[in-house]
Amino acid sequence: MIKENLAQVRENIQKACSNAERDREEVTLIAVSKTKPVAMLREAYECGCRDFGENKVQELIDKYDQMPKDVRWHMIGHLQRNKVKYIVDKVVLIHSVDSLRLAEEISREAVKKQVEVSILLEINIAGEESKFGVKPEEAENLARDIARLPGIRIKGLMAIAPYVENPEENRQYFALLKQLSVDISAKNIDNVNMNVLSMGMSGDYMVAVEEGAVCVRVGTGIFGERQYPVK
Ligand SMILES: *Cc1c(COP(=O)(O)O)cnc(C)c1O
Repeated sequence: MIKENLAQVRENIQKACSNAERDREEVTLIAVSKTKPVAMLREAYECGCRDFGENKVQELIDKYDQMPKDVRWHMIGHLQRNKVKYIVDKVVLIHSVDSLRLAEEISREAVKKQVEVSILLEINIAGEESKFGVKPEEAENLARDIARLPGIRIKGLMAIAPYVENPEENRQYFALLKQLSVDISAKNIDNVNMNVLSMGMSGDYMVAVEEGAVCVRVGTGIFGERQYPVK
């Protein structure tokens, strides 16, 4: 099941790259494994997946301990400041930084552990009330403030597009995020890099790739629907 799903997702990414005349090597598929058992992650690993995304700190560190050491872990969910210390030395990228206070905490822990932490700024690209992330117009100033902190490096932007039936509806938002990254990049802010664009999920990753995604975060499309315990 996972094997076939992965083959399909990879084929789709390849197609989207061809459509946009992009090099397939530019796009990293992140397997979003939240709520899924380690056995399923191992299956994806056997099929060549090395980038895994989780949205909860405890779950990430549990799985970190059980999976091979060459897995690249991505923190894609909202991060509380008091939990930063558990993951700074375990993740390759924190996708969800949307405040200076969170960045300051990451910086503090990075310095303490003598690591350099790569982060993305999470942008609320469609201005949805329910979503985390900074407003697009606030991103540049936040980037300038974070760029002064030691131990932390801005690598680009991340967005969660609205839930839509037709992925074409999200093309505008992916294009906006791309444009924002180009605009910020043009400011040549010291210590700020805009090479990574993390956008696109199971429903819309092909459109995201066509609009310039560098990381796509695919959960359901690889592992199937998630089941959350009834509370
Ligand atoms: C769960 C999640 C995904 C994956 O969603 P799917 O629709 O299952 O592909 C991607 N990004 C973030 C931030 C998520 O929380």
